[in-house]
Amino acid sequence: MAELKTLHNLFEDELRDIYDAERQILKTLPKIIKAVSDQSLREALNEHLEETRGQVDRLDQAFESLALKGKGKHCSGMEGILEEGRDLLEEEGTAAVMDAAFIAGCQRVEHYEITAYGSLMAWAKILGYSDALDLLRANEQEEKAADAKLTKLAESTINRQAGAAGDEIDGEQSRKPSRSKRR
Ligand code: FE
Ligand code: ZN
Ligand code: FE
Repeated sequence: MAELKTLHNLFEDELRDIYDAERQILKTLPKIIKAVSDQSLREALNEHLEETRGQVDRLDQAFESLALKGKGKHCSGMEGILEEGRDLLEEEGTAAVMDAAFIAGCQRVEHYEITAYGSLMAWAKILGYSDALDLLRANEQEEKAADAKLTKLAESTINRQAGAAGDEIDGEQSRKPSRSKRR
């Protein structure tokens, strides 16, 4: 563990953490994309994969702007979130239900990133790292847009399709409880 004597130390530490997190995403997201059924969802995730490559570039630039070596530090938080996504790849299920699960997992990723960038941006402001701040903000905006797009996809189509999936399975445990049983 690096020594956290100054806010700069903390900033550098967290910058390395998100750098590693983004690179972990680059490794796992292609596997998720392959498993997704909905065409629009696949396109949205592909687009965000491409954006993520640009985000890593921006982080390289942020390190450079502070004359720091661009080196990651293992992000256990992202590892856990992505592990859940990889676990999902082992499951078998109805296409729309699986897609709803993939969306939920991807939104966990986005929210983790948004909070990480939020803290980094706040510290960059205090520290006067204006170039890094601009780069971090650009990444944060993309994460927020990706999150909003996923919400839209879920709420406009995929959740409803997933909700209808139980209706076709009769007498199985996966079926939702019938109305009469709901009190
Ligand atoms: Fe990202
Ligand atoms: Zn982390
Ligand atoms: Fe993201």
